[in-house]
Amino acid sequence: MSLIVQKYGGTSVGSVERLRAVAERVARYKAKGHQMVVVVSAMSGETNRLIALAKQIQENPDPRELDVMVSTGEQVTIALLSMALKDLGLKAKSYTGAQVRILTDNAYTKARILSIDEQKMRADLDAGNVVVVAGFQGVDEEGNITTLGRGGSDTTGVALAAALHADECQIYTDVDGVYTTDPRIVPEARRLATITFEEMLEMASLGSKVLQIRSVEFAGKYKVKLRVLSSFGAEGDGTLITFEENDKMEQAIISGIAFNRDEAKITVLGVPDRPGVAFQILGPVADANIDVDMIVQNVGHENTTDFTFTVHRNEYAKALDICRKTAAQIGAREVTADDKIAKVSVVGVGMRSHVGIAKTMFEALSREGINLQMISTSEIKISVVVEDKYMELAVRVLHHAFHLEKAA
Ligand code: ASP
Ligand code: MG
Repeated sequence: MSLIVQKYGGTSVGSVERLRAVAERVARYKAKGHQMVVVVSAMSGETNRLIALAKQIQENPDPRELDVMVSTGEQVTIALLSMALKDLGLKAKSYTGAQVRILTDNAYTKARILSIDEQKMRADLDAGNVVVVAGFQGVDEEGNITTLGRGGSDTTGVALAAALHADECQIYTDVDGVYTTDPRIVPEARRLATITFEEMLEMASLGSKVLQIRSVEFAGKYKVKLRVLSSFGAEGDGTLITFEENDKMEQAIISGIAFNRDEAKITVLGVPDRPGVAFQILGPVADANIDVDMIVQNVGHENTTDFTFTVHRNEYAKALDICRKTAAQIGAREVTADDKIAKVSVVGVGMRSHVGIAKTMFEALSREGINLQMISTSEIKISVVVEDKYMELAVRVLHHAFHLEKAA
């Protein structure tokens, strides 16, 4: 007998029919003798609806009250699912995050889980119950309701699996696993049977939004066996997220092509080339709580250099403002900016042991005449910034160049 945590996202519980289908799957697992903990999101669209409602009252809704409000989405689903389970003759019990006691810090709308009291859940499981827990929420020391950030139910699922030492955490969504890239852009994209945690983190941070990135970090840290599957259609194996770079003979060198259109770039031209300049430019940006992604500084020329970095498009205007002020202070020549960019990356742990990945990548892009505005690399990833109108072409060309359409 094993203990399995299943998490169902908004589309998987989006209607009464979907909820019944979830209950039936849970019942099948239970019939096989597994102990089951089920974490659910709000029904699809519900969280957005609630946030929009709050914004009709306050443009920037009070964070404490917003959490009280949006946490109700999940509270509805746990009750409905428990009813559906009972309707099938199973024993079930629903809990909000606060009732379990998923203790978090008090950072409303983006709280972090500090601890989970698993006593009550254990007792319920031992008594034969399916335990149904609301995702995305917790409670702080003072009893205030908190939420974990958009997509936070994934993190609840993984955190419960870690706390209960579950044998597997299954994340059910509307795609049947993690793909080599977005099939809407490349129809030949393939589901990966396995992907390593590191690769998944890169893919997630680069905009492949299958899982909330914090849930992947959490699973990596606590060694939770994590699987992404679809709750629609036939029952498949999904994608297993592994710790090891398993059998290299079978594994492709590159696992996937990630991309995002969420960034904008800022360039400070004619910066005096002297120690401390990067700090002078990026310090005020960081102080304004703006996340910087890629950073490139050119080799200096005649005592000046150019400095380019990217930020999220939402924070672009603010960052640009800050940079214009800094540029004037440090005597830089000019600040230019561009939000018509996209980042495309190849990701794979095989890069550690293979040379020539960059060559293949740059060759494929150059053949299409795609100009590379910025390049950055990590141990398992190479990213380029291109003009955004070339993004889809770049993704397709790279998918093909690394033969990702063929099974490894
Ligand atoms: N309902 C929340 C959201 O839409 C949490 C989740 O679904 O994971 O972001
Ligand atoms: Mg989600």
